[in-house]
Amino acid sequence: MSYDDVREVDPAVADALVGERHRQNETLAMIASENHASEAVLEAQSSELTNKYAEGYPGERYYGGCEFADDVEELAIERAKELFGADHANVQPHSGSSANMGVYFSVLEPGDKILSLDLTHGGHLSHGHPANFAGQLYEVEQYEVDADTGRLDYESLRETAEEFEPDMIVSGFSAYPREVEWERIQEAADAVGAYHMADIAHITGLVAAGEHPSPVGVADFVTGSTHKTIRAGRGGIIMCDEEYADDVDSAVFPGAQGGPLMHNIAGKAVGFKEALDESFDEYAEQVVRNAEVLGETLQDHGFSLVSGGTDTHLVLVDLRDSHPDVSGGDAEEALEEVGIVLNANTVPDESRSAFDPSGIRAGTPALTTRGFDEEAMETVGDCIAKVVDNVGDAEVYAEVAATVEDLCREHPLYE
Ligand SMILES: *Cc1c(COP(=O)(O)O)cnc(C)c1O
Repeated sequence: MSYDDVREVDPAVADALVGERHRQNETLAMIASENHASEAVLEAQSSELTNKYAEGYPGERYYGGCEFADDVEELAIERAKELFGADHANVQPHSGSSANMGVYFSVLEPGDKILSLDLTHGGHLSHGHPANFAGQLYEVEQYEVDADTGRLDYESLRETAEEFEPDMIVSGFSAYPREVEWERIQEAADAVGAYHMADIAHITGLVAAGEHPSPVGVADFVTGSTHKTIRAGRGGIIMCDEEYADDVDSAVFPGAQGGPLMHNIAGKAVGFKEALDESFDEYAEQVVRNAEVLGETLQDHGFSLVSGGTDTHLVLVDLRDSHPDVSGGDAEEALEEVGIVLNANTVPDESRSAFDPSGIRAGTPALTTRGFDEEAMETVGDCIAKVVDNVGDAEVYAEVAATVEDLCREHPLYE
């Protein structure tokens, strides 16, 4: 995109937009929740549909002139259903958090009880953190991962459920590197008569491609984001059985939202079409393989991984053993200086603060989009190790920054 029209009206914003494109081209995006959408998705998202009011659902709108809005939303819904094998899909949630809100509003009342994973163990704000609406509206109890293994402890989850008697169990996580056994969480939900919402925000693309077991058809509700491992532009999605379809639809609109962001729904339709192509399965497989290689490379350099490895698109590094004097924040800052962008993250049994925790989280979805293979990923792992081993060393930073620059040039992104 040229941004020529923006520049004519508003050079300051045009500068920032061009700056952001250069930043994405010239740095390694390793924030596990980020990806690079295709030009086709970006174009759809910036279409004239941004002008259109289409409150309601296809065929049942509160406004006239919705024939093309209907086409786009129907395509997005049909493709989502095909991708995930879902009975019903709602593609209107503005974000993953809004998708969760839609599910809560569909079957819970304020004061009802939610059981979810602790944020510092890999949960999400919208699963009931006190600073989030979910923590304010509902009574929340949390489960944890096993501090020794870094893995979900399904038995303890079930015991907590039997004691707490939640109305809903929430699964699905932001910083969990291992495969989730949805059936075991469903068993706990069944045992106490709770609903089960599986939030696959991080792994939407892996599930779509069959690289991670699917909770669709297992959990009552499945929510996801459309901009993380699937490259359909920023937004959320809800899937459920037909029996909950009306409740979910009316909880999203008019319950939680007004007019849908039709331009983003166009982006979702295009991104889902891309994800239905065989090449997306290969992409998702490569994402996981790249994460494995990244993890192994870091382990070879002496780093500890939470759970000892990964089955997904991300690794969670616990710096406490290998680098007791380097916090997650120190590592994040040092790596950003050389053009590797990732985030500090809490680890199970965290001993520092949430603001400057003991770990870093690194994901491979965005680098895989730009064509990184195992060999390139090993180089990235070497770069990360070198910087974290030598925090503050300007000479090392310059050397690694040059390698990062080469990697970016060899894997071009946006024109
Ligand atoms: C990223 C994420 C979400 C969605 O977040 P938004 O920023 O609201 O789109 C929801 N749940 C989990 C577990 C996530 O990791």
